[in-house]
Amino acid sequence: MFTFMSARPQRTIAAPARLEGVGVHSGLRATIVFRPAAEGTGVRFVRADRRHAPGPIPARVEAVADARLGTTLRSPDGAEAATVEHVLAAVFGLGIDNLEIVLEGPEAPIMDGSARPYAEALLASGLHDQAVPAEAIEIVQPVFLEQADRRAALLPGAQSEALELSVGIVFDDPAIGTQSLELLLTPEVFLTEIAPARTFGYLRDWAPMQRQGRGLGSSLENSIVIDAGRVLNQEGLRFPDEFVRHKALDLIGDLALLGAPIIGRCEAQRPGHALTTALMQAMLAQPHCWRRRPL
Ligand SMILES: [Zn+2]
Repeated sequence: MFTFMSARPQRTIAAPARLEGVGVHSGLRATIVFRPAAEGTGVRFVRADRRHAPGPIPARVEAVADARLGTTLRSPDGAEAATVEHVLAAVFGLGIDNLEIVLEGPEAPIMDGSARPYAEALLASGLHDQAVPAEAIEIVQPVFLEQADRRAALLPGAQSEALELSVGIVFDDPAIGTQSLELLLTPEVFLTEIAPARTFGYLRDWAPMQRQGRGLGSSLENSIVIDAGRVLNQEGLRFPDEFVRHKALDLIGDLALLGAPIIGRCEAQRPGHALTTALMQAMLAQPHCWRRRPL
């Protein structure tokens, strides 16, 4: 392979793919259909059930309506797509630039709580190179953000053509404890090291969350459940450090909202959706910190 290749082309998928499951917060049956999209479209959600207002919901920072328990996007006409972060992690992790993601309800299906089912469905459809070159966002000056004991940064990277990630978490429960992860994000690394990592939560938080009408579809089928130093799932963990890997997955899914591949480094200590959203907003507000360039 030549070092001086022409820019990589934009990518979509070759054929539609459909997945069915349950919405983790609504508890309702949920379906998702991935459809190819034209060059320059970007990634966007469409609510097939809102025939009176079918306008797309762009997968962009500007559309974030709620970043508390998960990431919810809202279109200018008020259509929402909730729990989009694991889906977007798969799309971004595989380097897909243009995609229409059709939901038949307010929420993407949670599947097994990881990004693997979406990534496998997208790969089974086949990735399709398009006629227009992809454009990346390159970080050229540091952007820092702190929220209480959480902090994150976007920095110029040492590697020239990929996103470096450094993620750390600290939890009081010894089943999780302190974990950290460094990786260079390529589709291969995403598929093997990140995509299988499932979401997690404490058993003690389950009932209060459900009393608020959230997490109604949450179960041991789609979450790692922790109680007093123990993992309650009979099958155990997929990685000894599955928790920090899932936090990296969430981070990747949120960074996808910049709408372009990222050349640089992202460091995050105790990341969450609100922190990552604020970091991206800070970056966009400082145009001297980044530039667009061919990938
Ligand atoms: Zn997650």
